[in-house]
Amino acid sequence: MASVKLKNIYKRYPGGVTAVNDFNLDIEDKEFIILVGPSGCGKTTTLRMIAGLEEISEGELYIGDKLVNDVAPKDRDIAMVFQNYALYPHMTVFDNMAFGLKLRKLPKDEIKRRVLEAAKILDIEHLLERKPKALSGGQRQRVALGRAIVREPKVFLMDEPLSNLDAKLRVQMRTEISKLHQKLQTTIIYVTHDQTEAMTMGTRIVVMKDGYIQQVDTPQSLYERPNNMFVAGFIGSPQMNFINAKVEKRGEEIHLLFGKEDIKLPEGKAKKLEGTEYIGKEVVMGIRPENVHDEAMYLETLSDSIVEAEVEVVEMLGSETLLYLVVDEVDFVARVNPRTKAKPGDRIKVAFDANKIHLFDKETEKTIM
Ligand code: ATP
Repeated sequence: MASVKLKNIYKRYPGGVTAVNDFNLDIEDKEFIILVGPSGCGKTTTLRMIAGLEEISEGELYIGDKLVNDVAPKDRDIAMVFQNYALYPHMTVFDNMAFGLKLRKLPKDEIKRRVLEAAKILDIEHLLERKPKALSGGQRQRVALGRAIVREPKVFLMDEPLSNLDAKLRVQMRTEISKLHQKLQTTIIYVTHDQTEAMTMGTRIVVMKDGYIQQVDTPQSLYERPNNMFVAGFIGSPQMNFINAKVEKRGEEIHLLFGKEDIKLPEGKAKKLEGTEYIGKEVVMGIRPENVHDEAMYLETLSDSIVEAEVEVVEMLGSETLLYLVVDEVDFVARVNPRTKAKPGDRIKVAFDANKIHLFDKETEKTIM
């Protein structure tokens, strides 16, 4: 069993910084869990507490069924991969991978078996006699992973392991680590500040901000049902568009008003808002770039939610085009079909897919719907 349980965990540094606040999480055996959030949100501190490299100020940490708060790092049955691979430059790849096992005085043939097996999994068998300086960045990262794999740990901890690689290699290694997770069938806890990395690799994602968990969910749920404006804005690129709007009830209908614009909410959404405190109030409306359309077909079918926009910049990305728009003095991004005819300076009509509109409380920034 390689489950990991964090119960009411706090980390207080001397000097009054509480880096992690009341962190609660049950990580299941074989899960690939990602801790993600902006710089300083406490993700590395959390990982280091799991590793035993940082003392836990309050709370309980279990690996499997065992309370490990006071267990030394080397006895926790975990292996950590860091962002700077920290390979020994004077040793060969083989010796770098074997080093920890030699320290633990494993028999020579056992060490050889484990190193060769890990090298095979990582496809670096042909590099075993090389020194780190004769390796590419991606190959070094594989060796660093290999050094963790040979320990056959119950849990892998990875702290931004891809951040020193160039963009192309990062994408490639992302897939490789996902494949590795499938092959090894172990628990991985992975820290990154990159939401794309989080979304593509994790079975579940923990979004953190200022030392607090904001939401724990599958990538799809985070994307479709964010708990608050922070998660809604952090997950997805380009980020969700936000605009202040007033909720107005007209008979059975509910409209969102901003500037000169008027968007009628679909019946289902209107029903949910009816009778709530938000009628007549200002809320924050959120809509993702892919739910803002400029094609004639959408302008026809989504005629209740059309706004006028000025095109500022057109960014062609091949499979899609991003339109940077201004709607009533608010910047907006639309992700549209690359065949769009919109040009900078044009005034165009765009349609919001009102079924995909999110609403947030202006004060608490929590999701209303
Ligand atoms: P990054 O992505 O920049 O590494 P992070 O989310 O991993 O950020 P942490 O490194 O966990 O964030 O830091 C969380 C908070 O704790 C920050 O405010 C940081 O300044 C503070 N902190 C980290 N280490 C210490 C320390 N040894 N002493 C005091 N404060 C610290």
